[in-house]
Amino acid sequence: DQLISQIAAGEVIERPASVLKELVENAIDADATRIEVRLESGGIKRLSVTDNGRGIPKEELPLALKRHATSKIRDLNELEHVLSLGFRGEALASIASVSAMTVTSRTAEQSCAYSIHEGDVGVAAGGLGTKVDVEDLFFKTPARRKFLKSEATEAAHCKVALERIAIAHPTIEFRLVNNGKPVLVLPVEESRARINRILPDEFARAQREVYAETATARVYGWVGLPTAGRARTDAQYCYVNGRFVRDKLLAHAVKSAYADVLHNQLQPMYCLFVDIDPIKVDVNVHPTKSELRFRDSQWVHQFVMHAVQNALAPALA
Ligand code: ADP
Ligand code: MG
Repeated sequence: DQLISQIAAGEVIERPASVLKELVENAIDADATRIEVRLESGGIKRLSVTDNGRGIPKEELPLALKRHATSKIRDLNELEHVLSLGFRGEALASIASVSAMTVTSRTAEQSCAYSIHEGDVGVAAGGLGTKVDVEDLFFKTPARRKFLKSEATEAAHCKVALERIAIAHPTIEFRLVNNGKPVLVLPVEESRARINRILPDEFARAQREVYAETATARVYGWVGLPTAGRARTDAQYCYVNGRFVRDKLLAHAVKSAYADVLHNQLQPMYCLFVDIDPIKVDVNVHPTKSELRFRDSQWVHQFVMHAVQNALAPALA
């Protein structure tokens, strides 16, 4: 089982940033409003995520670390409808199989916190919510550890991963600290303020709002005007049902809307959120869920392209 977990971990857990993503998504699923990520040595030596969410009851701590144990889905039919970020029940087990993990948690009903480490549950210090502490990532699998880059590079990947999540959750306060130094401090704010804090400054200076809605789908966000300048390609953010995605179809739809002005030479900056009936999208294509498949891709393409064209139109007229 340990081996299976370590192999499964390889699919989802490539580096500290993947640990960060899974743990922060769990904190969000637990309705946290404040999430702090602390790294030591870019997360290679230690990565901890502390949240003020609903916590894990003492008796569920051993279960939370078991493979395929999830509290988020009760039967397979729910898979298609599930909106929570995690539902595979393998992140904690996978991370625990390739690190030294301690989970400390306290629910509102408990008078103290409990922690679990190597299967042992004991009383611990801790406020309401959960802290997951991951030490010495990949020390059990040296072959995998070799693939990690420098501490600075891993810290940079962690920052990017947290930014991607934070953009979709402006009502949550986030902090990222590396070796005691704050790297990212995000207060609760409006969606647009959160986006403009994270994207390049030129984006805020020349942007148009996007909005379109039908009975089953909605697209909204901001697109940069051509005068916003040439972007780094990583200033392109797409979310589907609250989840950051890299999707060729969506990227193509946006690019097509710019076609007349950009002559396919420049990369526009944008941040778009597509909310669509979950039945119309399959997010289980890849375990990290950053890829997806739309059931009616042509329709989605047209819908997004027209919305962006409309947003750009008054500026280009
Ligand atoms: P999944 O998120 O797919 O359910 P995980 O392995 O990520 O699987 O987590 C297992 C379970 O542990 C979750 O279903 C949840 O019940 C619990 N859990 C994990 N992290 C937290 C957290 N930060 N707050 C509350 N519960 C948590
Ligand atoms: Mg999870």
